[in-house]
Amino acid sequence: MVIAGGGPTGLMLAGELALAGVDVAIVERRASQDHRGARAGGLHSRTIEVLDQRGVADRFLTEGQVAQVQSFGGSRLDISDFPTRHPYGLGLWQNHIERILAGWVRELAVPIYRGREVTGFAQDDTGVEVELPDGQSLRAEYLVGCDGGSSLVRKESGIEFPGWDPTTSALIAEAEMVEEPELGIHRDARGIHSLGRLEYEVRDGEVIYKNGGPVRIMVTEGHPGPAGEPTLRDLSEALIAVYGTDYGVHSLTWISRFTDMTRQAASYRDRRVLLAGDAAHVHSPAGGQGLNTGVQDAVNLGWKLAQVVNRTSPKGLLDTYHAERHPVAARVLRNTMAQTVLNRPADSRLDALRDTVSELMRMDEPRRRFAAMLSGLDIHYDLGEGHPLLGRRMPDLDLVTADGPLRVFTLLHDARPALLNLGEPGGLDITSWAGRIQLIDAKYAGAWELPVLGVVSAPTAVLIRPDGHVAWTGDGTDLGLRDALTTWFGPPGAV
Ligand SMILES: Cc1cc2nc3c(=O)[nH]c(=O)nc-3n(C[C@H](O)[C@H](O)[C@H](O)COP(=O)(O)OP(=O)(O)OC[C@H]3O[C@@H](n4cnc5c(N)ncnc54)[C@H](O)[C@@H]3O)c2cc1C
Repeated sequence: MVIAGGGPTGLMLAGELALAGVDVAIVERRASQDHRGARAGGLHSRTIEVLDQRGVADRFLTEGQVAQVQSFGGSRLDISDFPTRHPYGLGLWQNHIERILAGWVRELAVPIYRGREVTGFAQDDTGVEVELPDGQSLRAEYLVGCDGGSSLVRKESGIEFPGWDPTTSALIAEAEMVEEPELGIHRDARGIHSLGRLEYEVRDGEVIYKNGGPVRIMVTEGHPGPAGEPTLRDLSEALIAVYGTDYGVHSLTWISRFTDMTRQAASYRDRRVLLAGDAAHVHSPAGGQGLNTGVQDAVNLGWKLAQVVNRTSPKGLLDTYHAERHPVAARVLRNTMAQTVLNRPADSRLDALRDTVSELMRMDEPRRRFAAMLSGLDIHYDLGEGHPLLGRRMPDLDLVTADGPLRVFTLLHDARPALLNLGEPGGLDITSWAGRIQLIDAKYAGAWELPVLGVVSAPTAVLIRPDGHVAWTGDGTDLGLRDALTTWFGPPGAV
């Protein structure tokens, strides 16, 4: 398996594949992981959960700042009452997220060909010839393009990328400033801007910047800027246009331009080539959802790809990746487009719209629905009619087993599926899938509570996929279990 791109999506996917025993390598254009600035500002609740499912959430939590980060169009949404072990987001810059992910991938012994890039590929019936510079190539069964918004893999595969052109752009940079800047968010006729120290703490929900040190700058431009690398001069001019001064900006360590271009790959797969993360969807950073969506794409795809490569499941399993993840990103595109409008320059009519939306967001039901969407906690894959848990994330319950207490997420650390029998011990038989699925007899006495939906009836058994989504629930019988096992984990006795 070859993954083009070692950003957050590629790294997560590599980890998932390595856990499943797949021979995988990453080809990454950047010479080192920290060779760019901090784009994304952190992780949402569901992403923290998926990292917890792999037993690595603490690595991120100890470095970041836990806070109520959810917001929609400028309205803060508190999720502290949500039924999850992580009812918050995590402030942590992307370079740190990538460093921690890269450390995990290193422990899993995934080779990363750094300073190399995928320049093309050719696929046939048995695999993909992945081209590298200097006439070198790698042969793989599958190639996954995790190579970002300008994805070469997407372009070369001919997969269409329909959507909307940018209406606005902003410069984002890290630099020093001679004068003390006006820290915080600033709105004017151009739109929204922000200046903050790279180092900060969250105290009582408030961001407290450290004194001195590099400044993280985000300044909206008057009109969508040209393609190509922006310069210190562009930054200085944009700052002067907004703040009347550039605060003596100097020692630029990183600069980039982002836009609200909104596009999504028409298909996430073309035979042996797949797309994930920004390669499959781009949108404005409003609500901070891009990295989170990419990491969760990887967690949806990894185990499926592993089962196909390991010959446990037929190739058709890969079609469920597009079927499940395309609608998730389509919803992100929609909500970021709506937020872009709410972030537009001050104008009486837009102010009225912002007030109206913020009034709505202060009501409990809209708050819960929007916050569950933005945090990723309400994601529901359409697996047909049935118990409300079907297709939704399995809550991290505290179970009791014959061997003592057990957290559900602990069962998922190795990215292996689990069948939880909460009824009569020994009442479920999965001998034909032995070795593929963990079967655990357990008891759980508490309420089953899901985000937005509230309390749901307790199932007698739950089949949990490696991505933490529920593939089947029992109601006292094993009706439908064999079908679910075959659909998700291959035909009986196939290994
Ligand atoms: C200002 C800003 C703020 C943001 N804030 C948030 C936020 O708070 N939360 C959030 O979730 N998201 C946020 N995002 C979005 C987030 O940064 C992206 O969604 C995320 O980086 C996507 O990860 P990725 O791995 O899919 O792609 P990328 O991070 O773009 O990684 C792609 C990798 O592929 C490599 N590559 C490219 N081409 C090739 C090639 N041909 N061969 C080999 N390697 C190649 C690149 O070097 C890169 O390392 C923000 C973005 C911006 C601009």
